[in-house]
Amino acid sequence: MTDSDSLPPIPLDTFACFFDLDGTLAPIEKRPEMVSIPDNIKQALGTLFNATGGALALVSGRALMELDALSAPLLGPAAGVHGAERRDAQGNIHRTELSPPLAQKLERELTAAIAGFPGCHIEAKGMAYALHYRQAPQYQHDILAVAEAFVDRYAELTLQPGKCVVDLKPKGVDKGAAIKAFMREVPFAGRTPLFIGDDLTDEAGFIQVNALNGISIKVGPGDTAARYHLDDVGHVHLWLLSLVEQLDNYSIKTKSSVGEDL
Ligand SMILES: [Mg+2]
Repeated sequence: MTDSDSLPPIPLDTFACFFDLDGTLAPIEKRPEMVSIPDNIKQALGTLFNATGGALALVSGRALMELDALSAPLLGPAAGVHGAERRDAQGNIHRTELSPPLAQKLERELTAAIAGFPGCHIEAKGMAYALHYRQAPQYQHDILAVAEAFVDRYAELTLQPGKCVVDLKPKGVDKGAAIKAFMREVPFAGRTPLFIGDDLTDEAGFIQVNALNGISIKVGPGDTAARYHLDDVGHVHLWLLSLVEQLDNYSIKTKSSVGEDL
C-alpha cells in the first residue's frame, strides 16, 4: 500500500498513537541537529493528543530532552533512546541505565576505536551511544565491526543499527518494550495501538503492535513486519492532516445535528 487512502480508518477515541520522529514526522537531514517538525504537523500532533485522551507518545532513538525541544509545545508521554528512558502519562521518568563503570569507560574506548574513520562521530545519549557515519558512509562496515566488537566485549550492551548510525544500548531495551509498557498504563490501556516508523529500530515496535492487533505503518522502502505502508514523510504529513480534518468534519456534523435537534 502506498498512500493514506489505503490505510484503514482510525477512530481516534479508541486508539493509542505512537510516532517515531526522524524519517517519520520530520525528514532526515545531514546532521540530527538540523531536523525539525513543521509547525502545522506539531499543531496536528496536539490535536491528536487531545482526540486520543492523551494516549499519544513519541518513541524515538533521540534523548527525551531533544524530543521535547523538537515537538514543543507538546509535552506528553514519550520514549527516548529506543525506550531506555520513558516518560509516562503521569510525568514519571523510567530509565534503564548502563552500569556507571561501563558508561565511564565506553565513551573513551569508543572515541579511540573510531579515531581512524574521519567524518564519523559519537553521540553520548546518557544510557546509550550512537556511532554516526552519515558524513562518511564508506566506513559503514568498519563502524558496524567496531560496534559488534563492543557488544562481544560487554555483555550489558546490545546493538541497534539504523540509517547511517549504529547505537550501542542496554540489553532488553527496544521500542516494542516501550510500547508494551505504555499499553499497560492509563490512558493507553484498553485502546488499539498504532505505531508508525521508518527504520530498523521501529521493527520491534511493529511486532509488538501487531501482537496487540494494532496498526503498524512503515514509512519508505525496506523489508518490514509492518502491515501498512506510506511512501515518505510527505505522505505521513498528509495522512496526519487528514486525521485532523476527519475530526473537524465529525465535530461540524455533531454540532449541526445538535442544532437540528434544537
Ligand atoms: Mg526514524
